[in-house]
Amino acid sequence: MKVVTVIGARPQFIKAAVISRVITNTPGVEEVIIHTGQHFDTNMSDVFFEEMSIPKPQYNLNINGLGHGAMTGQMLEKIEEVLLKERPDWVLVYGDTNSTIAGALAAKKLHVKVAHVEAGLRSFNIAMPEEVNRILTDRISDILFCPTATAVNNLKNEGYNSFDCRVMEVGDVMQDAAIFYVNKAIKPNSDIPTDFALCTVHRAENTDDEIRLRNIFIALEEVAEITPVVLPLHPRTKSKLMFLGYDFQNSSIRFINPVGYLEMVWLLINCKFVLTDSGGLQKEAYFFSKPCITMRDETEWVELVENGFNTLAGADIRRIVELAKKAIDGDSLDFSLRLYGKGNAGEIIIENLR
Ligand code: UDP
Repeated sequence: MKVVTVIGARPQFIKAAVISRVITNTPGVEEVIIHTGQHFDTNMSDVFFEEMSIPKPQYNLNINGLGHGAMTGQMLEKIEEVLLKERPDWVLVYGDTNSTIAGALAAKKLHVKVAHVEAGLRSFNIAMPEEVNRILTDRISDILFCPTATAVNNLKNEGYNSFDCRVMEVGDVMQDAAIFYVNKAIKPNSDIPTDFALCTVHRAENTDDEIRLRNIFIALEEVAEITPVVLPLHPRTKSKLMFLGYDFQNSSIRFINPVGYLEMVWLLINCKFVLTDSGGLQKEAYFFSKPCITMRDETEWVELVENGFNTLAGADIRRIVELAKKAIDGDSLDFSLRLYGKGNAGEIIIENLR
């Protein structure tokens, strides 16, 4: 069986690391990796390949720095060329980026079977580029690997029971990664204070909206006056803040460069709580038993909110600060529920493709 994996962005590298390890250990399965180039800098791409031992991509498309249309269009064209040459049994796509939809669409038009990992997630906010990518990718996938019961239910509500595809709940490969890499965590090469809040901000809905971005950083500065805030700064957020003339010199926030996954795991193990707009980090906070405040108006990971592990704060200054104060005081939460599977989603996925 030959599988072509299409990846291009940071969260996909982590998911692909899990699946590639399973494929390497499964006789009779060959993987060909296409890196679209969506993320290309050393600390947004190379570091993951090195420290997580992801096999070197056979194809590097180097498509980046473009608008949605040009980026997705160029990916579609190049991925099609690769698929015509490789003729795989499956194309495997992850999550909700432009690389995901481009990979799925190129494959489907060539009648190559598409498998979508992290299928069925919905924010119900169609203004998000990620939501558009998810919905369209799901619709043309032949097998939909859902991380949660909620995701399966979302698909059921959209009529997937009567579509010609297979929907399966398999757990979350990010849970597999957290279990596999917990003992391999590495302290970042920066001065990290104790009892800090771990923070990330990168979602377009926040970075592309000046008022939301300003409010979030007003709130974070206020939180940083009470407890240390460590923030690995995404390049997109950095350039937006620089454009707004952000006073990095006099900031109370401890900005660091984006870190590799093993350093992220160290930060998760050692932080007091998480403040984020990332999809992946909301779950990782839970995997590492840390409360999470999410700076978005909705989340795809509703089970975390329903069970009290995660609270939505939007870009509301007072709400972010109040929730942070609450997290500093430390509510005791029971993290023993297994909401995202047993850590064997990767094995289940490859077994089902076979
Ligand atoms: N991540 C990382 N280093 C960082 C920031 C994030 O390794 O400096 C990891 C994070 O732990 C998570 C993944 O990247 O596993 C999430 O990616 P991101 O927040 O970029 O995307 P999203 O999950 O929102 O799609």
